[in-house]
Amino acid sequence: MHKKIFELEHELPVTLDCDVIVAGGGPAGFSAALSAARSGASVTLIELGGALGGVWTQGLLSYILDAHGKSGILDEIVAELKLVQGYLHTPHPPNGTSYIGDSDWTYDSEAMKFVLEKLVTNANIHIEYHSRVVNAFVKNKSITHVVIENNSGRSAIAAKQFIDASGNGDLGFFAGASYEIGHPQSGEVQPATLVAIISGFPENMENTLQGDLKIALHQKFAKYGSELSYRRPVFVRLPHPNLAAVFLNHQYSVSHDDNTGITRATIEAREEVFKAIENIRKDPEWSQARVVQTANFIGLREGRRLNGLYRLSVSDLQNGAKFEDAICLVHLPVDLHSVNKAAEEAAGKKETTSYNAGLTAKPYQIPARSLISADVDNLMMAGRCVSGDFYAHASYRVTGNSVPMGEAAGFIAAKSVAQKVTPSQYLELNPGAITAEMAGRGYLL
Ligand SMILES: Cc1cc2nc3c(=O)[nH]c(=O)nc-3n(C[C@H](O)[C@H](O)[C@H](O)COP(=O)(O)OP(=O)(O)OC[C@H]3O[C@@H](n4cnc5c(N)ncnc54)[C@H](O)[C@@H]3O)c2cc1C
Repeated sequence: MHKKIFELEHELPVTLDCDVIVAGGGPAGFSAALSAARSGASVTLIELGGALGGVWTQGLLSYILDAHGKSGILDEIVAELKLVQGYLHTPHPPNGTSYIGDSDWTYDSEAMKFVLEKLVTNANIHIEYHSRVVNAFVKNKSITHVVIENNSGRSAIAAKQFIDASGNGDLGFFAGASYEIGHPQSGEVQPATLVAIISGFPENMENTLQGDLKIALHQKFAKYGSELSYRRPVFVRLPHPNLAAVFLNHQYSVSHDDNTGITRATIEAREEVFKAIENIRKDPEWSQARVVQTANFIGLREGRRLNGLYRLSVSDLQNGAKFEDAICLVHLPVDLHSVNKAAEEAAGKKETTSYNAGLTAKPYQIPARSLISADVDNLMMAGRCVSGDFYAHASYRVTGNSVPMGEAAGFIAAKSVAQKVTPSQYLELNPGAITAEMAGRGYLL
């Protein structure tokens, strides 16, 4: 940055006043909005893209991990996806000591967009697509308004409770909340991956979710001239019989707040994906391979982890921690992608395909307190930006956990509005209530 100019203060219209604002409509934000609305709150959901689902849809993720023991809204999504042939039960092979992947599944991302919109219809949720949260007004440690920008210009929305489900913790950042980023010593973040949907693969092609199949796929691409930057590439079949999702690239040092870097990484990743598919067509069995679609945005595994009343740590994973305010049980162990190229190459030489940093985990609970900001009284978090350390985040961040986090945050926010208290006070005044609520929704604790 070479120079600075100053923006003049200007008036903003306050276009809405509601009980709960949710920033971000990904797996966590969608679930938070639906849960808050069903718990009696008037809700505004602000989403940057033109669909609900975040990494599920615009990111083409296609595969739900850590679904075991998760009911609630995830079950509703599954039921709706089945109606439109958009669901495929896709068990994950064993991964570490604690992982139970028998409930994992894939979906078609277009079906997911449709289903999520169907579920929010009639739920008393005001949705603003194509809208970015760009600022927050804070008074006496509480947010009063968020500022959004969209096709209608710049405006403010007032609410009583706020949920940051933006993945990168944007709302918390604008509200001045403290946060952590990346590796505890180096600050490095896990690499970014641009997911793609392909067709024209061999009929007998197996999913490469784990084990030697990943190594074999890397070798296959290498044989035809593409030394993939992700040395453990993922190929997973979708419900649509002719389509599969592939994760082929790793882009390193992509920071959530470096737009130029994100743009560069996106362009490089898309080029790598296209070249890899073009090259593998030299294999007679892959001669019909095509890129059908690449994601609208490159998937960032990490952004800000906003500090909460409780910070989940790696020792919680190792000890199988239990909490009085538990909201769900996590089974996925540490699933850490190499933070730089040298580490990736070292991992690539190992026989094992596990990226667990040598850490073993037991099933552990997520406490509601890790969803409540330590700094801003009426701010909660859900999904990727909740409070935890680098290693814990590499376990709880997957979407089977983002949904219950959203459900819990939405419920607590709505009840806090009704009882005119902060989320922290709600937990104190209603001990055990959130855990009972989640158990009542069918969550295994
Ligand atoms: C490459 C990759 C592979 C992964 N593999 C798996 C996997 O196989 N299975 C699995 O279950 N999980 C996987 N994960 C993890 C998982 O996708 C994320 O952790 C999860 O999406 C978190 O959900 P979320 O709702 O917090 O965030 P997101 O899905 O990122 O949703 C955030 C939403 O907020 C919106 N938004 C962002 N900023 C703003 C703003 N300022 N204003 C308004 N809206 C905003 C975005 O458009 C987006 O819709 C993977 C992640 C990546 C990146």
